[in-house]
Amino acid sequence: MNKKTKILATVGPSSDSVEVLEGLIRAGVNVFRLNFSHGTHEYHKNILDNIRVAEKKSNKRVGILQDICGPKIRVGKLENDFNLMANDEVIFTREDIVGKQIDKNRYILSINQPSILDMLKEGEYIYLYDGNIKAKVVKIGENIETLIENEGKLSSNKGVNFPNTVINIDVITQKDEKDLLWGAQNGVDFVAISFVQNAQDILHVRELLKEYGSTSRVIAKIEKFDAVENIDEILKASDGVMVARGDLGIEVPYYKVPSIQKRIIRKANAASKPVITATQMLLSMAQNEMATRAEISDVANAVLDGTDAVMLSEESAIGTNPVNVVQVMSNTIKETEEVYPYDKFDRYEFLDETDIISSSTAKLAEQLSVNAIISITSSGKSAQKLARYRIRNDIFAVTHDEKTARALTIVWGLKPLMCVKNQNLNMMLANVLTELVKEKTIDKNGKYIVTAGFPTGMEGSTNFIRILKKEQIEYYTDFAL
Ligand code: PGA
Ligand code: MN
Repeated sequence: MNKKTKILATVGPSSDSVEVLEGLIRAGVNVFRLNFSHGTHEYHKNILDNIRVAEKKSNKRVGILQDICGPKIRVGKLENDFNLMANDEVIFTREDIVGKQIDKNRYILSINQPSILDMLKEGEYIYLYDGNIKAKVVKIGENIETLIENEGKLSSNKGVNFPNTVINIDVITQKDEKDLLWGAQNGVDFVAISFVQNAQDILHVRELLKEYGSTSRVIAKIEKFDAVENIDEILKASDGVMVARGDLGIEVPYYKVPSIQKRIIRKANAASKPVITATQMLLSMAQNEMATRAEISDVANAVLDGTDAVMLSEESAIGTNPVNVVQVMSNTIKETEEVYPYDKFDRYEFLDETDIISSSTAKLAEQLSVNAIISITSSGKSAQKLARYRIRNDIFAVTHDEKTARALTIVWGLKPLMCVKNQNLNMMLANVLTELVKEKTIDKNGKYIVTAGFPTGMEGSTNFIRILKKEQIEYYTDFAL
């Protein structure tokens, strides 16, 4: 049996050749991530071309996710590293200066987005160096005065977080706009937006994408404390979410990350929107041949939580053996899916009519023990809604739209396939079934359920459910001749 949970792998210097990319696809990668925190447009274009070649060679469709880097907030340049001790005073100035020590226990520095300093209140925290150094705001005046709470060394350009402050900055920088335009021109399937704060941020991205003529699905990276608070509206506005545990673990207390992961996955599942669990899943494998037991358990537990996809970052981008990492991830997923809590029928509210139809279809598939559901879909929505029931049976999502097929590469359990559009439903079924039999995707003697919307090509119109056995498959495949 194929694995149901999908794998995203970040492409970087260790994996950007056709040869390695092909190995990654064969080992189980479904979507490649291009990380726009690094690399030029030329570099990424080269990767994209290589992915398309590897895809053809391996004869397996993969999606492309463009990860937009967003407004990473950093301290400015420092004259020398600050060797900070508890109770040292650090002053954040609105001016653009080179940071320096001004007294025995006093320092001054600037950050790359000084307007954020206006949003701070006394008693709130500023985290420096990815949360390694905690500074408490004690006085607000012309400058922001803070007291350091723990020892640590701070150097130039280190990351800054505001774990208690709604900073409300523009999540799309000028660089991001250019990158989004590149993504539109190069037909990426997903854009992942970093440091999303609320639904408005996603709507802003959608406006830009529309202007650029892009149809990319929009994934919100949940990595800020306010995004966690606004998860419902963000889920509604986006096409999927990523539990971006790296930055999230700085913005919220580390011990909250696992429960937040579970909560976000549950909500995304209920909304039939794909959710990706990301960061440090098999991190030790960036250097080592084998992962730690804890890492293997982390992958397994994300699968059991109900994630649609698990993601690799450094492991596949700069690690020593990316194909091996994906193999380990695939093995872990497959074994875990042997004990998966399938058939989640009693779990979800019906949000619309398609949910009711999908629920009945999934239940029917399970009760009749069909080989697969063949879901003929134009937008992909009805197939996604089937996926949320997490049935054991295969689900083939058959679509005439290449973009839909690619967008479904990330969704749990779906196998996207292409067909030619035909207004006549019988002709369409005849063509689809003939093709599936020919390529041995379905077995002439098997049992299937086919669903479609009739008339064809209308979004959210699934109204046709048919059970196919040998006789019906023969009828349709003869029909096509
Ligand atoms: P990043 O996002 O790798 O782009 O920082 C993922 C995360 O923060 O976990
Ligand atoms: Mn991040």
